[in-house]
Amino acid sequence: MKTYRIATIPGDGIGKEVIPAGRQVLEQLAAADPGFRFEFENFDWGGDHYRAHGVMMPEAGLDALRDKDAILFGSAGDPQIPDHITLWGLRLKICQGFDQYANVRPTRILPGIDAPLKRCRREDLDWVIVRENTEGEYAGAGGRVHQGQPIEAATDVTLMTRAGVQRILRFAFNLARSRPRRLLTVVTKSNAQRHAMVMWDQIAREVASEFPDVSWDKELVDAMTARMVNRPASIDTVVATNLHADILSDLAAALAGSLGLAATANLDPERRYPSMFEPIHGSAFDIMGKGLANPLGTFWSLVMMLEHLGEAVAARQVMAAIEAVTADPRLHTRDLGGTATTLQVTAALCAWLRANPLLRAAA
Ligand code: ATP
Repeated sequence: MKTYRIATIPGDGIGKEVIPAGRQVLEQLAAADPGFRFEFENFDWGGDHYRAHGVMMPEAGLDALRDKDAILFGSAGDPQIPDHITLWGLRLKICQGFDQYANVRPTRILPGIDAPLKRCRREDLDWVIVRENTEGEYAGAGGRVHQGQPIEAATDVTLMTRAGVQRILRFAFNLARSRPRRLLTVVTKSNAQRHAMVMWDQIAREVASEFPDVSWDKELVDAMTARMVNRPASIDTVVATNLHADILSDLAAALAGSLGLAATANLDPERRYPSMFEPIHGSAFDIMGKGLANPLGTFWSLVMMLEHLGEAVAARQVMAAIEAVTADPRLHTRDLGGTATTLQVTAALCAWLRANPLLRAAA
C-alpha cells in the first residue's frame, strides 16, 4: 500500500477552516481503500507563530517539509502583521526554497455557478493560467534607502533570467500541448517594459519553435484583461510573469464565479522538492471563524495534488464530487449567493464520495 506523506499548513484566517476540511476529504477518499493512504503532519506556522516567535516559520522549517510528497497550504495574511512579512516569511519562502517555479491555475465555470459574464457559456471559459513563480517582479531584488527622509528612495527590480523564462515557457507549451486545443497565449508588457519583457518575447519565439504542434499568440497584459472579458473562448492556456499572472488569475477566478472556488499548484516540475497546493484566496479575515468560507478552492487544489501524485482516477473522482456539490444551489456558500456553511459543504462532498465508490472499481 502506497503512503503519501502530506504536510498541512493551515496558516492564517480561513486557512484554518479550509485546510482541516481538505484533510477530511482526503481521509474520506482513503477510506474507500483506493490502494493508497495518507500520512499527515500539521505545521502551525503563520501569524500566531510570528507573534510567539518573531518568525512566520522556523529557520529549519524547509527541512521539516523536504521529505513530504506534497504540501497542502491554506493562506498567509494577518491584519496585525505587514503583508510583506507574512508573504515573504512563509509562502514565498517555501515556493522559492523548493524552486516551485510553475504556478498553475485552472479556471472553469463549474455546474450550477452563476458566473458574472452574461454572454459567456460554460464551454467558453476553460483556461489554465501558468504563472512564473520564482522571479520577475517578486524576485525580492530592490531596496529602500534614507527611510523617512525627503530623499527616501525605493526600488523593486523585475528580475528575469534566460533560464527562468525558458523553463516556464517550456512548461507552459508542454501544458498547452497536453490540452485538446493546443493553444497558448503568452502575456507580456514588452511595449513599456523594454528589457526583461523584450527578452521574454524573444525566448517565447525560440521555445515556440520546439513546439510546432502548439498554436500560440502574444498579448499585452492590459489588452489581455479586456480579452478575458470580451472574448473568453479565444483563450485556453496562458503564461505570464509572476505579477501579471497574479492579477490575471484573480480576474479569472472572479469571472468563473468566485475567488472561493479557485485553486492553484506551486510545482517543482523536476520533482526535486515537494510541490505545494493551495486555494488562491487569502486569509479573508472578514469572514474568519464564521463558518462562511467556501472550501471548494481547497478541494480543487486536492484534485491538482492527486494529479501530481499520479492518482488520476482519484483526482477525477474528487473533481466529480466538487461538480456535484456546485450543481446543488443548497450547497452554495455565501460567496456564491447561498447560505451553506463550510462544514455543510464538506460533509456533502464527503457523503458524495462515500456514495460513489468509483475509485475502488476503477483503480
Ligand atoms: P490576504 O491579505 O490574505 O490576501 P484578503 O482578505 O485581502 O486576504 P482574500 O482572502 O483573497 O483577500 O479575500 C478577498 C475577499 O473574498 C474576502 O473579503 C472574502 O470575503 C472573499 N473570499 C475569499 N475567499 C473566500 C472563500 N474561500 N469563501 C468565501 N469568501 C471568500
